[in-house]
Amino acid sequence: MNAKQVVEDLNRRFPGEPAYIQAVSQVLGSIEETYNEYPAFEATNLVERLCIPDRVISFRVTWTDDAGRVRTNFGYRVQHNNVLGPYKGGIRFHESVNLGILKFLAFEQTFKNSLTTLPMGGAKGGSDFSPRGKSSAEVMRFCQAFMSELYRHIGPDEDVPAGDIGVGGREVAYMFGWYKRLTHQWGGVLTGKGLEFGGSLIRPEATGYGNVYFLQNMLATRGEDLAGKTVLVSGAGNVAQYTIEKCIELGAKVVTCSDSDGYIYDPDGIDREKLNFIMRLKNEERGRISEYAEEYGVKYVGGGAKPWFEKADIALPSATQNEINEEAAKALVKNGVIAVSEGANMPSTPEAIKVFQAAKLLYSPGKAANAGGVAVSGLEMSQNSERLSWTREEVDARLHGIMNNIHENCVNHGTEADGYINYVKGANIAGFLKVAKAMMAQGIY
Ligand code: NDP
Repeated sequence: MNAKQVVEDLNRRFPGEPAYIQAVSQVLGSIEETYNEYPAFEATNLVERLCIPDRVISFRVTWTDDAGRVRTNFGYRVQHNNVLGPYKGGIRFHESVNLGILKFLAFEQTFKNSLTTLPMGGAKGGSDFSPRGKSSAEVMRFCQAFMSELYRHIGPDEDVPAGDIGVGGREVAYMFGWYKRLTHQWGGVLTGKGLEFGGSLIRPEATGYGNVYFLQNMLATRGEDLAGKTVLVSGAGNVAQYTIEKCIELGAKVVTCSDSDGYIYDPDGIDREKLNFIMRLKNEERGRISEYAEEYGVKYVGGGAKPWFEKADIALPSATQNEINEEAAKALVKNGVIAVSEGANMPSTPEAIKVFQAAKLLYSPGKAANAGGVAVSGLEMSQNSERLSWTREEVDARLHGIMNNIHENCVNHGTEADGYINYVKGANIAGFLKVAKAMMAQGIY
């Protein structure tokens, strides 16, 4: 396999999908050598079978807003690969959603799910509908309309969606309710459900907590820990909130968080009470992060500004893809940041990653560092199958174990001759090998 050639070819066949091409290019770049050690892979064109999704489902979603206007959006489900288990991956509702973004996310999800060692394939879905500025009644009608088509393509042993940007507990619950109504089946068909109806303890916390557990492992390789460190977090949603919570618990000081309009900088750090304010603001009142600055009299930078130019020891991007570009990466390095661990999916551009790696920073890609979310989704599926609920401690201990294991796998596959741990390479090779071997075993199709 010649990675460059394959990427060029995919770019020609799928024009206008830059995020998908970016994700494929990054993975193929780091697995090329390993792939070429197995002639059988090339003999069966494994690379194309691995990069091109098994199936893309696209549909129109029609719903009625509160003013009685009939509105339409696109809906998609990208079922990327199910050799390791049922398709599994979140649903994103955001105006920026398009097929290329979902294809990148589904591709990444396949390797991430492989890294968790749980039996899950990779998928992603979503819509260009944004819940922002919509009433709960509108969100409910949209979720019902979306599920009216999606339900034909999912099931507890077929495809198990979850949340992502714009899809939290409220949206998952509306979709679950409608799935149940359409099929007459109560099944573990979505994860991230409410605790009253099959959800798992620790699922809301899992991505943020998992990222911090992974970070602790990374820091330990250099004899460091989190206590006393200053941390930049972006985003103010699910991942950001629980990242901040775990950082506070471990004695770090988080000085920023953000939304798509801008970021706040709190030099005293976000404490438990201030975090409760953010959770209420974002999860119940659905307000803007600028209100934090008004409440606590701290700096707010608007115009969609990102927090990466502030001084800190650690950066935990937890908002969206490509939120750290080369310039921001250089500023982080210049300001003395020692670790960047990705809560979001692909938040660093390829140029930014080069800057981190050239500076020998501790840098982990989302597919390793944020795998805790889908891991606990996998545990939610197990509990649903067993008709049992595990305790908070039990789920947290399993999450911790899974993150430690992913870290170890990255070290095993990613340590370079000079001792630098290339987490990108480690995660890609470890995730890839398992999927590839299962594909070879299951025949050519
Ligand atoms: P939420 O919708 O809960 O929060 C997203 C946050 O990021 C919001 O503060 C949002 O601000 C901000 N944001 C979204 N899009 C943009 C943008 N284009 N520019 C700037 N800010 C933006 O989503 P999650 O916390 O669930 O997801 C965050 C990231 O983590 C995503 O990359 C997701 O794929 C990834 N992830 C999530 C997992 C999960 O379990 N939820 C699991 C693994 C990865 P605003 O409200 O203003 O749009």
